[in-house]
Amino acid sequence: MAEVEGQVRGDEGPRDAEDEARRRLALAQIRQYPDPVLRMRARDVVDFDDELARLAERMTALMTDARGVGLAATQVGVLRRLFVFANAEEDVRTLVNPRIVERSKSVETDTEGCLSLGPIRVPVERAQRVVVEAQDVTGAPLRLQLEDLPARVVQHEFDHLDGVLIIQRTDDASRREALALLRPQPVIGVG
Ligand code: ZN
Repeated sequence: MAEVEGQVRGDEGPRDAEDEARRRLALAQIRQYPDPVLRMRARDVVDFDDELARLAERMTALMTDARGVGLAATQVGVLRRLFVFANAEEDVRTLVNPRIVERSKSVETDTEGCLSLGPIRVPVERAQRVVVEAQDVTGAPLRLQLEDLPARVVQHEFDHLDGVLIIQRTDDASRREALALLRPQPVIGVG
């Protein structure tokens, strides 16, 4: 099973209470379904200024605290085309104005979660390899060839910038199950 975005990376043993508190605090700052901003398309970044650098830093901190492996600006309510993702252990990248310029014909279906979708885990088919062109926070161009988990994470984050969520990418049965879980539960109690 791939551990995408919303899931803990690997078995880290018993979580200590402080980590758990930090995770909850981070999640509270990440937009949650059905927030309409999650369905909106983000705009290109034009100014590579201090504000952009601060946003990328904040997103990296939130992603790390939430123990995710990717986070798009859309998920913090900022409709600009950038996301952060863990390319490898200790290697968090910021991609600004990303474009997926190549997708392999070979695809893989694996389970994904999302920091904006709580407990939802659904199977999603993704290209196994992608080539991404983007800019870094200073505006310098970069090109990455990715495969397997980092390729999957980048496709997931790229979708966020177009307002697309994994529940739109999964099969009908998994979508129905996920939507049932996401529906607010009726409160039964004293009237
Ligand atoms: Zn997500």
